[in-house]
Amino acid sequence: MPRIIYVNGRYLAYGAAMVHAEDRGFQFGDGIYEVIEVRDGALIDATRHLDRLARSLGEIAMEMPMPRVAFAHVLREVVRRNRVTDGTVYLQITRGTRPRDFLFPGPEVRQTVVVVARPASRAAADARAATGIAVKTLADPRWARCDIKTVMLLPASLAKEAARAEGAKEAWFVDEAGHVTEGASSNAWIVDAAGRLRTRPTDEAILRGVTRTTLIDVISRLGLELLEEPFTIAEAKAAREAFITAATNVVTPVIAIDGVRIGDGVPGPVSRRLRAAFHDVVERSTNEPVLARKC
Ligand code: PLP
Repeated sequence: MPRIIYVNGRYLAYGAAMVHAEDRGFQFGDGIYEVIEVRDGALIDATRHLDRLARSLGEIAMEMPMPRVAFAHVLREVVRRNRVTDGTVYLQITRGTRPRDFLFPGPEVRQTVVVVARPASRAAADARAATGIAVKTLADPRWARCDIKTVMLLPASLAKEAARAEGAKEAWFVDEAGHVTEGASSNAWIVDAAGRLRTRPTDEAILRGVTRTTLIDVISRLGLELLEEPFTIAEAKAAREAFITAATNVVTPVIAIDGVRIGDGVPGPVSRRLRAAFHDVVERSTNEPVLARKC
């Protein structure tokens, strides 16, 4: 359990870290979040996560609540105060608190900012990746702007529960054309029957995963073939390999889709190689401020 949580400028003990009942995040899901991997005490790919944060905020007409350098400091400070070596740091920004009204509040209402750091066992994640996970496919009921990392996660939560009920770890959403969009909290990939890496191109139907973007750097360094093209469930089931990417699980092999075994039913060589190479390519935070970009 985290010991210290940052809420609106204060580092509070876990039990005292509260936001108001009329916070717009709670009332409307009116907020944006990010999750960043922490590895050996460093933030992984913080620049890309803060870029996406600024973009998501801009897409729903919100501003960065503080300069980027200050934000990076708060993230590192929460990690430090919780003594997290490996795990994640979560941040959420909502449009603030005021009597419930669909219309946006004026600039006098201060945004709510929460930052939580959590340890996670690297050994457990590696063990899960060594075995591989199962996924379940289901129709994508989410809104039309999945490229924005909003806190409206009810469809994702319902999908994960449906997956869990069938012994799967992740849900893969499928659009009306029968193409896999992405996972409930990850991007979806296959190594197709012809041996090419395939993932859906970034459009409004998926979140541009930071892990996805960094993995594309890894793939090009390794000289592997990548097609940013949608794939169907049938193509996924016939694939040599499948895997998911996210800051919380890096590259995690998928060994079954809707109960159908993928490849040999064990994590394949390409997925394992990409997972092993990933952290050679990432940006690691230091105690220097993250350079300001864009915002
Ligand atoms: N797609 C969705 C819907 C997600 O929620 C996430 C992560 O939470 C991802 C993709 C992967 O994004 P990232 O690699 O930045 O963690």
